[in-house]
Amino acid sequence: MSLEIMDCCICKKQIEPQRTESGEIYWTQGNDALPIHDGRCCNKCNAEIVTPARFTDISMSTGKIYKKPEEDK
Ligand SMILES: [Zn+2]
Repeated sequence: MSLEIMDCCICKKQIEPQRTESGEIYWTQGNDALPIHDGRCCNKCNAEIVTPARFTDISMSTGKIYKKPEEDK
């Protein structure tokens, strides 16, 4: 696995590396940016752009309001 710092494919800023409590970088790949982009994105874009787009996508494709799996019981 590569630990090179990557750029977010949405905002073009560096993706903040994830570190362990001792400060070791263990993850630099950010988040899956689909359906916005076929690439990797930072946490901020994931939370503000990608996740809302997924909700919209799911609710449009099923015609239902998306429910989290744990609410389905
Ligand atoms: Zn970003």
